[in-house]
Amino acid sequence: MPHRKNIYFSYKQTTELEQIVQPISSLLQANGFHIVTDTKDAHIIASIGGDNAFLQATRKTGFRDDCLYIGINTDQLGFYTDFTTENAEQMIHAVQNAEVEVRKYPIIEVSIDGEKPFYCLNECSIRSNVIKTFVIDVFIDDIAFETFRGDGMIVSTPTGSTAYNKSVRGAIVDPLLPSMQISEIASLNNNEYRTLGTSFLLSSQRTLTLKVVQDGNDHPIIGVDNEAISIRHAEQLTIKLADKHIKVLKLKNNSFWHRVQRKFL
Ligand code: NAP
Ligand code: MN
Repeated sequence: MPHRKNIYFSYKQTTELEQIVQPISSLLQANGFHIVTDTKDAHIIASIGGDNAFLQATRKTGFRDDCLYIGINTDQLGFYTDFTTENAEQMIHAVQNAEVEVRKYPIIEVSIDGEKPFYCLNECSIRSNVIKTFVIDVFIDDIAFETFRGDGMIVSTPTGSTAYNKSVRGAIVDPLLPSMQISEIASLNNNEYRTLGTSFLLSSQRTLTLKVVQDGNDHPIIGVDNEAISIRHAEQLTIKLADKHIKVLKLKNNSFWHRVQRKFL
């Protein structure tokens, strides 16, 4: 990537992080990179912080598919962060010596009531915001698949499968499989309401539609990654894999399964 030298730093503006970013900026500049302050001039978007910071960086920059994202953690390595601020020299060495590769991560596109879509790198979740259960009619393409009643549902990307999805016993999915996983949060199952009860995966050819049954208890909380959407009323969510990906710069010797092993086993 010798011709892609404009770097934009995305981080929480605190004095502590400012002090961490300063020497890394200088080091990168000394190695021929340019630091830019406008995302539209960037070829590379570097997030400083944990997975949370990486999720914010992609959201704030609009899930650009013409940029490379790189996650630089201030702490241990995470799921989206292959480098740490402590080893900035190592990072530059890796970049200059072809020890890095670009991975494409699938993202999910969610449209609420036909409005302009939101994108998610981890997941879209929909939950009741009151103690009572709420009801969702679940459609796969045009098939009325099931009626869900309970706390909510999670639709996760492969890279998001290790996050919220895993906490509800969803499967971990290899990011090389372009797919989305639907998992239940505390479904009520009885003679009236019956759901599959296990997670399932949909391919990029499918569209999932969640219709919130309008029964007076229909103001769900909709989350996209680590943000709640401030829409009070939602009737229908249309969810599919986006046509675009995000491209992440990562170490060749640190695969998704290395990270899963390191974090969970
Ligand atoms: P948080 O509640 O502060 O942290 C959730 C934890 O998940 C953090 O340890 C975070 O790592 C980690 N994480 C984020 N993305 C991950 C991924 N793809 N694979 C494995 N771990 C991941 O919230 P946050 O830091 O803003 O992260 C938002 C995410 O939290 C949401 O996208 C959702 O997946 C998850 N979440 C989980 C639950 C649950 O498990 N019950 C409930 C709500 C939300 P860092 O420490 O590096 O940030
Ligand atoms: Mn966090």
